[in-house]
Amino acid sequence: MAIEPRLGDVVQTRKQHPCGNDQWQVYRLGADIGLRCIKCDRRVLMPRREFNKSVKKLISRLPETTVDVEAEVDPSVSPKTN
Ligand SMILES: [Zn+2]
Repeated sequence: MAIEPRLGDVVQTRKQHPCGNDQWQVYRLGADIGLRCIKCDRRVLMPRREFNKSVKKLISRLPETTVDVEAEVDPSVSPKTN
């Protein structure tokens, strides 16, 4: 399944990780796609074509946003108006 990965995406792979999990979060984009096992926290890098072969489906994706996902936003803090 060819999807355009985005940071924060959770994807399901065809093969399970040895820990029994098959869901991964995208933590790095580039020539290689960085995936983090959401169960055991193991990180792997794979070439984009390998990623497209391995991924079965997109489980969840963060809402479309123009905000830099690296930026930390604390919703409990309201902006000061003065
Ligand atoms: Zn794992």
